[in-house]
Amino acid sequence: MGTFNIANIREDFPILKRTVNGKPLVYFDNGATTQKPKQVIDAIVAYYADMNSNVHRGVHYLSQISTDAFEITRRKVQTFINARHEHEVIITKGTTESINIIATCYGRPFIGEGDEIIISAMEHHSNIVPWQMLCDEKGCVLRVIPMKENGELDIEAYRALFSERTKLVSFTYVSNALGTINPVKEMIDIAHTHEVPVLIDAAQAIQHMKVDVQALDVDFLAFSGHKMYGPTGVGVLYGKEELLNKMPPYQGGGDMIKEVTFAKTTYNELPFKFEAGTPNIEAGICLAHAIEYIETIGVEAIKAYEDELLAYATTQLAKIDGIRFIGTAEHKSSVISFVVDGIHPYDIGVILDKLGIAVRTGHHCAQPVMEQFAIPGTVRVSLAMYNTKEEVDTLIAGLERALGMLK
Ligand SMILES: *Cc1c(COP(=O)(O)O)cnc(C)c1O
Repeated sequence: MGTFNIANIREDFPILKRTVNGKPLVYFDNGATTQKPKQVIDAIVAYYADMNSNVHRGVHYLSQISTDAFEITRRKVQTFINARHEHEVIITKGTTESINIIATCYGRPFIGEGDEIIISAMEHHSNIVPWQMLCDEKGCVLRVIPMKENGELDIEAYRALFSERTKLVSFTYVSNALGTINPVKEMIDIAHTHEVPVLIDAAQAIQHMKVDVQALDVDFLAFSGHKMYGPTGVGVLYGKEELLNKMPPYQGGGDMIKEVTFAKTTYNELPFKFEAGTPNIEAGICLAHAIEYIETIGVEAIKAYEDELLAYATTQLAKIDGIRFIGTAEHKSSVISFVVDGIHPYDIGVILDKLGIAVRTGHHCAQPVMEQFAIPGTVRVSLAMYNTKEEVDTLIAGLERALGMLK
């Protein structure tokens, strides 16, 4: 267990010292990407300064140490998510690619015309569009778990969606637009009573709470490095060994083959079967440093701190005249989405930016969610472990000022 010292944590993130528009930066766009601690930034520099070499190839020294470092990340991820085997961890470009690998390599061979895929009404576009593309190609059908007014999924409706034709369930652990934490274990168990595998999009969960793939008994899990204090351009696809083994490779190229002749090519084993070509070596190696950073602080300590900050921010924001929260689920994580009567979210975002406060405005890559609430978008405040109550107070003062100008 780590110790949570907010002053020390903030010291670790160099960008938090800068100003924006002459004001100290207040960064509340962590749902889009998190800032990086110097432990990760230093590791990126050290990689290029000391180690740069291609992985899984040369016999020479640098290639061996970069390969070893890359494989350390795989083992770090394995223990971090408690995977049974290290080769169940596929290093990808990010959540989007991880989901596309399943849509392609599981979807194409195992999901056919008239078969059904269940997703939810609160998915990020990257967990909608790959399935629509598969449906266009194969003639399969998307079924959508409805969402209630408070931003929770309707679990009874979910139970009723299963049929003989259901082949896969894919939904998000935490909504990036609403902050809802879904009852993931219960939903996986329901799918498994129908012998249907489940893919969980953990892009908004992995940095905020303990995710244990064996305890969840999840079949596939996807997340991104850049939202968990790591580099951009790296992510993870976890899959159960027996499922990954029966899937064909994703892309053809180097590293994913055992032997190539013009007559026949044999594919490499897990995990390399899904890792064609030179990976993002630097990001792959440095993801281990991000995980180490999270582990040093402690996932439980991070969650406790962020939950308290979320409660504080929610209470303070609720005092603002005309504010309406979008997404008021009982279990939420680190995201507050809201609108203010008669004012466009974008206008609020522009004025906050002038005050050095970074929030996201718009549909947050979840247009169907906005459609359900009949709004064009929201202002989204998304928290990370380095945010503080003082920053929340700065946000509230900024909002009051923005609303005074806009009303
Ligand atoms: C960010 C996000 C994605 C997409 O992740 P990328 O890093 O852009 O590939 C998918 N799902 C959720 C819930 C997200 O927040």
